[in-house]
Amino acid sequence: MSEVRLKNGVMIPQIGFGTWQIPNGRITEESVAFALEAGYRHIDTAAGYYNEESVGRAIASSGIDRSELFVTTKLHNTDHTYEKTRAGFFKSLEALGTEYIDLYLIHWPNPVAHRHHWKEANAGSWRAMEEFYQEGLIKAIGISNFFPRHIEALMETATIAPMVNQIRLFAGSMQEELVSYCTKMGMVIEAYSPLGTGALLKSEIIAEIAKRHDRSVAQISLRYLLEKGFVILPKSIREATIVENIALFDFSLTDADVAALDAMENIVGPVRDPDTTNF
Ligand code: NDP
Repeated sequence: MSEVRLKNGVMIPQIGFGTWQIPNGRITEESVAFALEAGYRHIDTAAGYYNEESVGRAIASSGIDRSELFVTTKLHNTDHTYEKTRAGFFKSLEALGTEYIDLYLIHWPNPVAHRHHWKEANAGSWRAMEEFYQEGLIKAIGISNFFPRHIEALMETATIAPMVNQIRLFAGSMQEELVSYCTKMGMVIEAYSPLGTGALLKSEIIAEIAKRHDRSVAQISLRYLLEKGFVILPKSIREATIVENIALFDFSLTDADVAALDAMENIVGPVRDPDTTNF
């Protein structure tokens, strides 16, 4: 598994297993177990996915040493502000049954619950996260779904800049300006919904490339993002596709493939504006 270096030196496995929309309980436990068995060592969850407990159980029963795993979780949208972040963080630690989190993210910059004071709320959350980072309870801190205006606001009081921005990225929706802004600040970009939550699998352009390489549409979509240097977070609940989504290191795309994928239209829809969503 290839790894990417965060700016504080922490290494992050370039493929993480996504767990959004996998219900807490048996399905999460089985999916995460399949993923660990297949060789994933990086799991992406969130307080807002309500499956941290099952992720934790799957990790515990895998027998894999905690130090070999990279676990990301995210602050719940209702838990912004300093005090709530402290409480929310410890709830996640307990649910996951772990002593520390490898990467902790503010999930959403401007949730409805804190819209009337989002800047102050984020500043308080970040201060709590910086303290946990200094204490070693979090190995790296970052953000998700932040646009430049949210990052600028955060940087007014931050003493440590975010190390990661986890954003929606897939062929046809590559958010070039945001990526360039974050990269200049030294952030690693994580590509969430790398298959467009499944919508990309219908792409005829990607299917044509897949046929030439004798690979699946998912593998071409994921390999494209890997070659761009992003960390990718594919999700699946089926063992065969979980295995397929990590088998990306024995082929590469041609310049013509990359050019075709670069030129793709967005077949999924625009990225949500974090300031106007209803969550
Ligand atoms: P993906 O883009 O990973 O697509 C998942 C869908 O594609 C599922 O329906 C899955 O089916 C299907 N699929 C996966 N692999 C294959 C394959 N090889 N062949 C055919 N179908 C396949 O979805 P997500 O939107 O869940 O994004 C991935 C992860 O990114 C999330 O789980 C989460 O961890 C993170 N994320 C973060 C967000 C944030 O706000 N920070 C927001 C959204 C996602 P099935 O499961 O039935 O196998």
